[in-house]
Amino acid sequence: MSEKKTALELIDIHKSYGSLEVLKGVSLSASDGEVISILGSSGSGKSTLLRCINLLERPSQGQIRIAGEELALTAGKDGDLQASNRRQLERMRAQVGFVFQGFNLWPHKSILENIIEAPTQVLKQPREQAVSRAKELLERVGLLSKADAYPANLSGGQQQRVAIARALAMDPQVLLFDEPTSALDPELVNEVLAVMRSLAEEGRTMLIVTHEMRFAREVSSQVVFLHQGQIEESGTPEEVFDRPRSQRVRDFMASHS
Ligand code: ADP
Ligand code: MG
Repeated sequence: MSEKKTALELIDIHKSYGSLEVLKGVSLSASDGEVISILGSSGSGKSTLLRCINLLERPSQGQIRIAGEELALTAGKDGDLQASNRRQLERMRAQVGFVFQGFNLWPHKSILENIIEAPTQVLKQPREQAVSRAKELLERVGLLSKADAYPANLSGGQQQRVAIARALAMDPQVLLFDEPTSALDPELVNEVLAVMRSLAEEGRTMLIVTHEMRFAREVSSQVVFLHQGQIEESGTPEEVFDRPRSQRVRDFMASHS
């Protein structure tokens, strides 16, 4: 029998800012190829949870495993956890692609240079190899003709597709999306969702924070609803969207449909 491997496992993640505990023990597990949507009101801890995965935020407690490898963590002086081993952190960070609301492309680098930056600097890929892969990825997101343009010359939707290509260039185990379409004009949302949908269909493991409910329902294998730093409800899209057990989730769905 072939068991699906676990691409990402978060166990009992806690995070406090001073006396404010914003994550109160969140656990979730994504098998290879799973798409998990994370829903919840503003301030429920969605971004903090994603940022804890690659230690952009340091969790106060918990365990993180990527492709079966546990990230070694030690308590720092302030009590929050930090990577025990810098090299392991760098290696594991390279396996986690992050796409933010705000694109975060280098403004002074061309689109092509943006995409080859990490593969050449972090993975030490030869430039020709990185360029050829970057062009494949640009073609895939429909932007090969923009290789030599600069971010400022692209629409928001195009910049976000470049940001996705940039994340893919590292060939990550897991892709994290934090409200990737929230900063876009409505007419540009679909071109980004179409790229994400194609990634889901090809079996990429993804965690997606989004307010695009129809999209989440269609692409997700699992839906997780966060409330005040805890998982209020989780299940298949049918369970969470059509038969939510919690009144809070029902209210949320009613106000987001
Ligand atoms: P979401 O992404 O679900 O809107 P966040 O993860 O951004 O929620 O925030 C969760 C809570 O943590 C909020 O109450 C927010 O104000 C707080 N928070 C986030 N980042 C910080 C920070 N750097 N310092 C203090 N509080 C923070
Ligand atoms: Mg957020």
